[in-house]
Amino acid sequence: MKIALIAHDKKKQDMIDLSIRYKDVLAKHELCATGTTGTLVMGETGLKITRMKSGPLGGDQQIGSMIADNVLDLVIFLRDPLTAQPHEPDVSALLRLCDVQNIPLATNVKSANIILDALSNGAFTK
Ligand code: PGA
Repeated sequence: MKIALIAHDKKKQDMIDLSIRYKDVLAKHELCATGTTGTLVMGETGLKITRMKSGPLGGDQQIGSMIADNVLDLVIFLRDPLTAQPHEPDVSALLRLCDVQNIPLATNVKSANIILDALSNGAFTK
């Protein structure tokens, strides 16, 4: 599967913790991420990740374009719902496209846990 990882700044530690917890599962899949999220997760886990631009500089739109092309199978986007984002229109567009293409989307850690557990035990397949 092709999985995208994105985390807003206040959720980056959560994404690092999640990636460490599910490192063995994630390692079996093709990963991409927005720039800073990808750099941090790669640094902490050693996972191979294709990095896009940083989210506010167009990375969300790059991942949105992959969603529009239907090449992603799962998006984990740990959003910060309590902080205004300069690139909010890009964030909304990405979330909307997941619904357009019916792509599984986790926007918080508990949802991500459930989906990654399902991926790990074979309940979630392509
Ligand atoms: P970043 O982008 O991983 O480059 O910080 C995430 C975002 O804010 O959309």
